[in-house]
Amino acid sequence: MTPLKLLAGLATGAMLMATTALAQGYPERQITMVIPFSAGGPTDTVGRLIAERMSADLGQQVIVENVGGAGGTLGAGNVASAEADGYTILLHHIGMATSATLYRNLAYNPLEAFEYIGLVTEVPMTIVARKDLEPTDFASLVTYVKENADTITMANAGIGAASHLCGMLFMQALEAPIVTVPYRGTGPAMTELLGGQIDIMCDQTTNTTEQIKGGTIKGYAVTSPARLDIFPDMPTVAESGFGNMEVSVWHGLYAPKGTPAEAVARLTQSLQAALADPGIAAKLAELGTSPSPAADATPEALKAKLEAEIARWKPVIEAAGTYAD
Ligand code: ASP
Repeated sequence: MTPLKLLAGLATGAMLMATTALAQGYPERQITMVIPFSAGGPTDTVGRLIAERMSADLGQQVIVENVGGAGGTLGAGNVASAEADGYTILLHHIGMATSATLYRNLAYNPLEAFEYIGLVTEVPMTIVARKDLEPTDFASLVTYVKENADTITMANAGIGAASHLCGMLFMQALEAPIVTVPYRGTGPAMTELLGGQIDIMCDQTTNTTEQIKGGTIKGYAVTSPARLDIFPDMPTVAESGFGNMEVSVWHGLYAPKGTPAEAVARLTQSLQAALADPGIAAKLAELGTSPSPAADATPEALKAKLEAEIARWKPVIEAAGTYAD
């Protein structure tokens, strides 16, 4: 054997050994799950639920790190440039797709910067308001917002957030440019809505359900195509005549590009185990949603969803003409 071939053989052998060692030993220490929004918000709620169950399955803690800001692009950017060793993962939502168009100078390419672990869940949104806002139903809210567009305030979690997308569609439908107030997540925005400092918001049911049921905020409409079991009396925005406002906040789990395939496969397996847990399904059902089926909690399904959603929202965002830069 020539010295060159010997070297090549040794290198391949070393790579195989490293791969096998990773497959056998992974994970050997705690994993950080970055949530690109504030603690206490809807994405955080979903993330903490699955992180806890994945910890049990993996035999190592999956700890949540909230990196809010810039509509989720700050946290996603951190993970895109994190070490691709299987110990940093990202839970993001539909904002991964919308930010691809909203940010023309994004530091990472959403389609290229990550390994895909799988889809997690798809959460409907609700249009809500502080509890003492006058309108009593969605039709009167529409009239009220049109008449008070320059004084009413709408919270969102920054450009690229689901609340931003929903708010943008709401303004387009009403032809009313409402004043928006950005937060690092809709967790803190909810606190301000409860305190009456903010008038309206569009947010996932994982953040609004308990408050609507408790009467501490008003819920007007859901953005899903059909009414929800948890709110049978709440209309969909589509049945109220705003068909273009159908938004479902799908969530996906990612790892930095180059994360070893064995680690990704183990994470996918663990995600599927979490989503199959009846306790998680029950908690999500209380919040108006359900876990993604195992067939969707796969890298292929998440990649296909991201590609389709970038294509879906690109023309809508371009028509709105508002960008982050
Ligand atoms: N609901 C937020 C959004 O607008 C994110 C969050 O705080 O979880 O995307």
